Amino acid sequence: MTTTRVTPQEAWAALVDGNERFMNGALRHPQQDAARRSELSSSQAPNAAFLGCSDSRVAAEILFDCGLGDLFVARNIGQIANDNIIATMEFAVAELGVAVLVVLAHCSCGAVAAAIDQSSQSPQEVTPAIRTELEQIQPAVQQEWLSEHRDTPYVDATMIDADAVGRRHLATTINALMRNSRVISDAVAHGSLAIVGCQYQLEEGRVAPIVGVGKIGIDIARS
Ligand SMILES: [Zn+2]
Repeated sequence: MTTTRVTPQEAWAALVDGNERFMNGALRHPQQDAARRSELSSSQAPNAAFLGCSDSRVAAEILFDCGLGDLFVARNIGQIANDNIIATMEFAVAELGVAVLVVLAHCSCGAVAAAIDQSSQSPQEVTPAIRTELEQIQPAVQQEWLSEHRDTPYVDATMIDADAVGRRHLATTINALMRNSRVISDAVAHGSLAIVGCQYQLEEGRVAPIVGVGKIGIDIARS
């Protein structure tokens, strides 16, 4: 296992600064030139790992105004912590020594909407592979639905707060990463890694922290 180069707090602070620049239209596009390419030609040492949704509006390096070698990124529909993702995040922690792991949900997520539909009385047909992934989001759908509606288990998409489902799924994803990975849990316990769960606000551009796990202080977003 590598040793980390910065604290989780320092790694998170750099991302917050980059996101502030993105929100304010003051992008610097750092670390994207030939010198940086050359510097990275034989190795990488990112301080942050990113697990996010594949949504075309949620591009990791742009949201955090960072460049080559800065973020180790894995994305899939609805940022689901399947085996592939867990292996990828473990590699980031054990082999690359990242200090912070950002799990990023976002508002108006199509995967969350699809999982809500799959929980309705007459779900649309999806492929078996997509259904398997959406099943990881459906517990969050059910929890949110049953917190308000106990008359039927079938979800009405017009009567559920999809972004609240997204926040529940975000917590579930972080729990799954820790439950299924001793490497990740041990790094958090050791203090060399923190996990920050965020929800991205599409219009504002803000990556709003919702939950932090480990030795890290974050300004929790009101939701
Ligand atoms: Zn999404």
